[in-house]
Amino acid sequence: MSVSGLAASIPVLSVKGLVKTYGRGENAVHALRGVELDIHRGEMVAIMGSSGSGKSTLMNLLGCLDRPTAGSYLLEGEDVAGLDRDQLAEVRNRRIGFVFQSFNLLSRTSALENVELPLLYASPPRQTNGASTAVAQESIAERAKRALTLVGLGDRARHHPNQLSGGQQQRVAIARALVNEPSILLADEPTGNLDTRTSIEIMRLFQDLNEKGMTVLLITHEHDIAEYAKRVIVLADGRIREDRAVEKRRVATDELLALPVETEVM
Ligand code: ADP
Ligand code: MG
Repeated sequence: MSVSGLAASIPVLSVKGLVKTYGRGENAVHALRGVELDIHRGEMVAIMGSSGSGKSTLMNLLGCLDRPTAGSYLLEGEDVAGLDRDQLAEVRNRRIGFVFQSFNLLSRTSALENVELPLLYASPPRQTNGASTAVAQESIAERAKRALTLVGLGDRARHHPNQLSGGQQQRVAIARALVNEPSILLADEPTGNLDTRTSIEIMRLFQDLNEKGMTVLLITHEHDIAEYAKRVIVLADGRIREDRAVEKRRVATDELLALPVETEVM
C-alpha cells in the first residue's frame, strides 16, 4: 500500500470507550457511557437522539471543546484526549469548523470580517519584515473572500448580519467554519432556526461541500434533515443505539428544482 493510501485509511476521527461524566458522587450525570465511533474522510454523518441523549456532549468532545472523563480520541491519528486547554484550542482552530443553530456571527462586523476571524486567531505565519506582513494581511482577506464565494455570498462581503437573511447568515457562518480548511465540519442543529426551503438550501451546501471531499458531521433531531446524510447514528442515554447507512438519501439539489419558483433574494 502506498503512503497516501495508508493515510487515506486512517479515520478522520476515532473514539473508543468515550465517557463523559458531569459532576461527581450523587450528583454525577453520565452524559456519555462508552461511545465507539470511527468516521472516515468524505463521510456525511447525522447524529440523532432525543433531548438529553448526549448529542451536544459528544459534539463538544469531538470538537475539542471539552475533554472526556475516560476513553481515547484520535483526530487524524493524533491522540487529543489528553491535551491541555491551549493544545486543544490549537488543534480545534486548525482541524475543526463549527456551525451552530444560532449562527453566532458578530453583529457589528461585515460578513467578510466575520469569516476572517478564525484566520486572525490562527497561529500567525512566519514573517521576517513588514512587507510580508502586508502580504499575509492581503491573503487573509482573500481567503475569507474565497470562502464567501464558495458558499455563494461573494457579492455580500460588506453586508452586516442584520442586512442578510437567516439562510445567508448561516452561509456566512459556514464560510467562517471553512476558512481554515478544517478536516471536519461539525454542525449542531444547523437548520434549527431556518424555514423549510432555506433548510434545504443549507443542506444542499453541505452536500456540495461533502461532494468536494469535506467530511461533515451534523447533529439534528429532525429525521428529514438526517436523511440528507449518508449515515445516521442514533444516541440514547449516552450510548450509540443505532448506526446505519441512509437508504434513500435525500438530494437537496433535486428537491430545490422541484419546489415552486419564488422570487428569491439569494
Ligand atoms: P443533548 O444535546 O442530546 O440534548 P446533552 O449532551 O446536552 O444532550 O446532555 C446529556 C446529559 O448531560 C443531560 O442529562 C444533560 O442534562 C447533562 N449535561 C449536559 N451538560 C452538562 C453540564 N455542563 N453539567 C451537568 N450536566 C450536563
Ligand atoms: Mg444538545
